[in-house]
Amino acid sequence: MKTKMYALPALPYDYKALVPFLSEEQLKIHHDKHHKAYVDKANEVLGKLEIARREGTKIDVKAVSKNLSFQAAGALLHSLFWKNLAPKDQTQTEPTKIIGDEITKEFSSFERFRKEFTDCAINCEGSGWATLAYDRQTNHLVIMQIEKHNINIIPGLDLLLVLDVWEHAYYLDYKNERPKYVEAFWQNVNWQEVEIRLDKAILTLKQ
Ligand code: MN
Repeated sequence: MKTKMYALPALPYDYKALVPFLSEEQLKIHHDKHHKAYVDKANEVLGKLEIARREGTKIDVKAVSKNLSFQAAGALLHSLFWKNLAPKDQTQTEPTKIIGDEITKEFSSFERFRKEFTDCAINCEGSGWATLAYDRQTNHLVIMQIEKHNINIIPGLDLLLVLDVWEHAYYLDYKNERPKYVEAFWQNVNWQEVEIRLDKAILTLKQ
């Protein structure tokens, strides 16, 4: 078995750190159960592939690729999501300098961006993600509405800010009221992390 596998990162804060946006119970089940399941299942696919190739047994490439895409994307998006959040006293409600300027350049104003991102999150059909991404081909900031974990993706974009709008992300705290969950999210965005990701994307572009 290859040693490089998908991993479940520890949360960068305490389970209670995001109250009242997310309760301890909601955050714990989301991270410890749901996120962990994507990591485990993605690794299971890698393990099965390795065995099948070693032993020369047949695989259903289409089904395996589809499953790996779903599980691995789920694992990755959650890892990005936890770092996009921060306890309220450790963050600010407005973006930091560079990302703030880029948002204003792209969307005309922060308020306009916030509204578009909020609409993207609220109107995602079924399970999915609202994301703000950076396209190195055009230098544009892009809002991507991802269905499930892996549908409607523009390949190769850098994911700067992601918001999980699967019911499992909010149902214990908000029941069916997704708009309330999305509204509360803005109080706990870690803008510093968004800025670090934009910095990295721009740096890579210059290299
Ligand atoms: Mn989730």
